[in-house]
Amino acid sequence: MTKKPVIILVALMLPFIQSFHKLEPQQEKPKNIILMIGDGMGLSQISAALIANGNKLNMERFRHIGLVKTFAADNLVTKSGAAATAFASGTKTKNGFIGLTQSRKPLHSILEIAHQRGLGTGLVVTSYIQHATPASFYAHVPDRYDYEGITLDLLNGSVDIAVGGGRKFFEKRKDELSLLDSLEKRGYEIFNSLSKAEKKSNSGRMMVIANHDHMPPMHAGRGKYLSKAAEFTIDKLKKNENGFFLLVEGSQIDWGGHANDKEYIINELIDFDRAIGRVLDFAEADGNTLVIVTADHETGGFSVEGGSLQNFEVIGDFTSAEHTATMVPLFAFGPGSEAFTGIFDNTDIFRKMMAAYAFELEKP
Ligand SMILES: [Zn+2]
Repeated sequence: MTKKPVIILVALMLPFIQSFHKLEPQQEKPKNIILMIGDGMGLSQISAALIANGNKLNMERFRHIGLVKTFAADNLVTKSGAAATAFASGTKTKNGFIGLTQSRKPLHSILEIAHQRGLGTGLVVTSYIQHATPASFYAHVPDRYDYEGITLDLLNGSVDIAVGGGRKFFEKRKDELSLLDSLEKRGYEIFNSLSKAEKKSNSGRMMVIANHDHMPPMHAGRGKYLSKAAEFTIDKLKKNENGFFLLVEGSQIDWGGHANDKEYIINELIDFDRAIGRVLDFAEADGNTLVIVTADHETGGFSVEGGSLQNFEVIGDFTSAEHTATMVPLFAFGPGSEAFTGIFDNTDIFRKMMAAYAFELEKP
C-alpha cells in the first residue's frame, strides 16, 4: 500500500524524464564535434547581447557550463593564435605562434588528427580563413601575420571545407604562386560566394572564399552568412560516415572589443548566437554531435554598468583596447558534454575533445 504514491509520482514524471532525454542525448561518444569560438567573447559581452536581444539567447539552451583559463605560455594575456593553438592542439605556446610549440615544433591539431582518421573537417569564419583562430587548426607558422605562409599550409589538405574571407592571400602573392589553381588540382572545388557553393557544389571538398578581405561586419550587411555557412558545411560534412570536426568562429566580436564599440560587439554576438541556434537544432535532431561554445579570451575589459531590459538598452564601458586575462565561459551540449563543467585550462579543451572522440593522445 505504501508504495503506491511513489509509483504514481514516477508515472507522472515520465513525460518529463523522456523530454529531458530528448534535450540531452545520452550517448557515450559523439560521432561529430562542432567547436564554436566567439573571439573576444567574455561574460559581459554575452550579457550585453542578452539584454539587447530581449533577455533571450540560444546559449541558454546549454546545460553543461564551465570556465576556461586562457593565459599563454609567455604572457598572462593571450593572443588569439596562442589561445587557439592551446585548444586545437593541447599545448600552451608563445603569443604570435600558430600550431607550433614554444621551441617551434609543429603540433597536431584536433582537425588534423580527425582528418588522418578519415573524419570530415571544416572551418567556417567571418574573418580571413587564414586568421589566427582558424589557422591554428591547419597551419604551423611562427608569425600569425604571415598570411601568405598560412595559406600555403592549406595545400596539405587537412581541411575539407573552408568558408570565409581572405582571397587576396591566394592570388597576387609575393611568390607569384596561384594557390587556387593548386587547390583545384588537389581536388578542391573553388567558389567565390556561399550562394554559388550552395547551388553548384557537388563534392565534399571545397574552398568557399567569399570575400577578397575579411567578411564584412554585421553593420555593413553581412546578413545571415554565418548561420547559412554553418548549416551548409554541416550538411556536406554529415555525409562522412566516420563523422566530422567543424570549427565555427564569430571572429569579429573581438574587433568590437578592440574598437571599444559596444554596438559592434552586440551585433556580432547576436549573429554568433543565431548560428549557435542553428547548430543546436542540428545537434538535437542528430543526437550524435557534441557542441562546444567558448572564447579564446575576453577583449576590451568590457563591463555592463546599467541599462534597461524593457528598452533593450545596454550601458557599458571598457578598461582596455586589448585582450584581458579574465576567464571565459564554455558551454557544451550533447554526448560527452558532462566533461566540460568546472574550471579548467584552455589546453584541456583539446584533451576533452580527444577523449570524447575516443582518440588516444600521442606520447610526448
Ligand atoms: Zn583580438
